[in-house]
Amino acid sequence: MITLTSTCDDCGSIESVEVDTTKFAAYKAGGTAKMHFPDGDWTPAHREIIMNNVPRPVQFYLCPMCWLYMEEGDHGPHNPDDGEWASDGPAGDSALRD
Ligand SMILES: [Zn+2]
Repeated sequence: MITLTSTCDDCGSIESVEVDTTKFAAYKAGGTAKMHFPDGDWTPAHREIIMNNVPRPVQFYLCPMCWLYMEEGDHGPHNPDDGEWASDGPAGDSALRD
């Protein structure tokens, strides 16, 4: 097992998740986070931490509380229209609710 940590870009909270070393290596080799860490065993919040531990075009991490804040508020720490949004983040389906 390996412990992955990420620091929230908004509030500075440090979140961590334990993943199987082999599984993490397989994810780094290719494929989506959801493919290697599917719903049921993993939550979108877990995947956010995992995804932030591999190089990606936009290195950005928000803790679950900040995601919640952003989903509920009209304005958050981040503007989804500015092109820096993580397309597969947990807030991705928020437009389908309400
Ligand atoms: Zn936060």
